[in-house]
Amino acid sequence: MPLELAELPPLRSLGFDIMEVLEQAYFPQPCAKLVESRCSVYAARPNNCRGYRCKVLRRLEQGELDVEQARALVQKATSLRSTVQQLLASVSDCTSSVWARLEAFLKAENLQLDSPEFSRRHPQLGMHLMMLRRMVDEEFLVKKDAAGGQGRCLLIRPAGHTCMPP
Ligand code: SF4
Repeated sequence: MPLELAELPPLRSLGFDIMEVLEQAYFPQPCAKLVESRCSVYAARPNNCRGYRCKVLRRLEQGELDVEQARALVQKATSLRSTVQQLLASVSDCTSSVWARLEAFLKAENLQLDSPEFSRRHPQLGMHLMMLRRMVDEEFLVKKDAAGGQGRCLLIRPAGHTCMPP
């Protein structure tokens, strides 16, 4: 997650683990401040976090979903993510995102995602991953908008998307 230079001192004092690469500052995902599906530093969260509203939040704001429906979607997606994480347990780096773990898993197994061989060797993982990706795509991702905004998602991070808890 990219950070603005001006916000680095207060974020460092909150304990954010900040990396600086080529004059751009980041903090790693999954975010260590996400505790039981909530931001533990909500009032002082980074500006990028503050500005992001996923599709579920937008639908909630527009009255298309009520709070319980939105919560149910988040819980269902979180549960699917946990299942995929468990199925990827052979990948040792448990601090990385689901997507990073999946990439490592595919590399270690010399498999292509969505290939028949992948489905044959890992049917449970393939099925849950498909459900998670579909759900994230349909319920959470905000596609590029007219202003050029980037779709982002907290659950997995396909190439071309940045990752962001709600
Ligand atoms: S909003 Fe999410 S990513 Fe941002 S600081 Fe809070 S938990 Fe971390």
